[in-house]
Parts: sequence; structure tokens; C-alpha cells
Amino acid sequence: MQEHLYKILVIGDLGVGKTSIIKRYVHHNFSPNYRATIGVDFALKVLNLDQETVRLQLWDIAGQERFGNMTRVYYREAMGAFIVFDVTRPASFEAVTKWKEDLDSKVTLANGNHVATVLLANKCDQGRDVLTNNGIKMEQFCQENGFVGWFETSAKENINIDEAANCLVKHIITSE
Ligand code: GDP
Ligand code: MG
Repeated sequence: MQEHLYKILVIGDLGVGKTSIIKRYVHHNFSPNYRATIGVDFALKVLNLDQETVRLQLWDIAGQERFGNMTRVYYREAMGAFIVFDVTRPASFEAVTKWKEDLDSKVTLANGNHVATVLLANKCDQGRDVLTNNGIKMEQFCQENGFVGWFETSAKENINIDEAANCLVKHIITSE
């Protein structure tokens, strides 16, 4: 049986739900009270997937660091990333391509490829206005911007978070 340890980044604008997604995924709970992450937090998730043990080291990055020199340090040696936006806030979706460009410009895998990245449309328990109003074709958006997939998620209602993580891990394993 093989063992893997992967550094996974969780990035996106302030307040989109990065910390909440990690809390739900790792600690199985949710808090409606907002507390901004200061600096960087880590959480470890161990999962078994297709006979393999995978350890995910999840890096929770504070939104304030956006596109500064600090992100280069955080991104170092990452194997995968989630870029998160809030389906109720169009500006957080507009920032997605900026986060992706920031990531791709600062980190590449040993084989020269970009880091596998999954897009999370979070707070889907609040509706999906941002997705429908703008007529965004998410499949096409993902292809054009180099995302390996996307999921509508809710940290509050525990929707699609495991599925999104499994998708990301499978991409990382098969591209190694
Ligand atoms: P971060 O700044 O990206 O880490 O965002 P947080 O995880 O701190 O979440 C910001 C706010 O959004 C908090 O008040 C959370 O309770 C709330 N929140 C996060 N995820 C969800 C979700 O899936 N649904 C709803 N309704 N609220 C959420
Ligand atoms: Mg946070």
C-alpha cells in the first residue's frame, strides 16, 4: 500500500468560506460566527482512496495576503489547490482568475505542470444567483482557466466537500 502526503492550498477572497470548508472537512463542524484567519493555519486530513492512504496538509491562507509577496512562501511545494468563491458575491468570483494567475505564476510541479486546482462555488445553500445571473458556463470556464473540476459546495450543509477533495486527490495521484 502506498502512502502520500500532499500540501493543498485553500485560497480565495476574504469571507468566501475557506476556513469553514476546512473545518467541515477535517473536524466535521460548522460555526456561523465569523473569525478572520490570521496568517496561516494548517489542518491534517487522512483519507483512504482506492487502497491508498493519503495525508492532506491543508493550508488555510488569510485573504488579506492576496497577490502579495507573501503568497510565494505559502505556495511553495504545493501539490494541489482549491480556489473558493462565494456564490452570493460576484466580486469573489471575479477574483478567481486573479488567484489562479497568482498561483500559476508562483508555483509549478517538478515536472513543470501547474498545480492541480479545483474551483469551489461555496455557500450553495444560499442560492446560486452568481452562477445563473451571469450565464457563466462553468465547464467552459474551468477548461479555459485550467481548473480540473468545479463543485457547488456548502460548508454549512456539508455539500460536496468530500467529493471535491476526492476529485483533487485523484488528479494529483494520476499526474504523479
Ligand atoms: P474565509 O475568510 O474564507 O476563511 O471565510 P470563513 O470560513 O471565515 O467564512 C466566512 C463567513 O461565511 C462565516 O460567517 C461563515 O460562517 C460563513 N460561511 C462559510 N461557509 C458557508 C456556507 O457554506 N454557507 C453559509 N450559509 N455560510 C457560510
Ligand atoms: Mg479564514
